[in-house]
Amino acid sequence: QGSRLFHPEDTIVETAHSKIGGDHFTMMAGPCSVESAEHVMKMAAVAKEGGATVLRGGAFKPRTSPYSFQGLGEDGLKYLRAAADAYDLDVLTEVMDQDHVGMIAQYTDIFQIGARNMQNFSLLKAVGKTNIPVMLKRGMSATIDDILNAAEYIAAGGNHNIIITERGIRTFDNKYTRNTLDVGAVPVLQKLTHYPVIVDPSHAAGHTEFVIPEALAGVAVGASGLVVEIHDDPAHAFSDGAQALKPGEYLEMIQKAYAIRDAL
Ligand code: PEP
Ligand code: MN
Repeated sequence: QGSRLFHPEDTIVETAHSKIGGDHFTMMAGPCSVESAEHVMKMAAVAKEGGATVLRGGAFKPRTSPYSFQGLGEDGLKYLRAAADAYDLDVLTEVMDQDHVGMIAQYTDIFQIGARNMQNFSLLKAVGKTNIPVMLKRGMSATIDDILNAAEYIAAGGNHNIIITERGIRTFDNKYTRNTLDVGAVPVLQKLTHYPVIVDPSHAAGHTEFVIPEALAGVAVGASGLVVEIHDDPAHAFSDGAQALKPGEYLEMIQKAYAIRDAL
């Protein structure tokens, strides 16, 4: 169902404030984690200033260590929703557990399926039964066919509002970057599927200094949008501070991204 062979036209995923796919270019930005009502409100203002139409923020966090901050849970969703509404933004937040789909659906405009859950088939089936858009992130060791098949699990339930996200994969050398952004996957995915393909340079780069160049590479290969992590005080971020763009860096990235996009 996701194949171009049966559906040649681009799918445009529509939410209250965004059109994702086709000729549209969509910016999504926000903190890795929702940290407090005040903080996410501040980050929403920054996201909006850069032209983002989607506010990201994790309330249920898939942390590598069980001792790391796990997210604010439903309270975090409330803060995220309020911040998005204050700035006319859509909410993007991760769902980690199939039992949370109904609860998170009350707060979000787009579900995120994280890299670690890309092949959690029960979860994919559960979001596939809703009509809420799903942003599916490529697993760190997933092939292109693996992510297309994962998308198919969502589509098979009747939900075709799928956004494919390249966020870097594990390669033989991830000493200096957290993952390796597979820029080549973007045009390949666009050839194979009609679902929009976006790039997350933050989790690929892992270090702020490499986020902008990787974001621009994603724009240059034709991604339909970017999703980036921003923070005003990265040293004290609850998660992923090392890869956060400060507000000024985020605005710089946006200017350059639009210049490249316009040149395509
Ligand atoms: C995130 O978006 O904060 C996240 C945990 O991403 P990923 O699943 O790509 O690691
Ligand atoms: Mn993160």
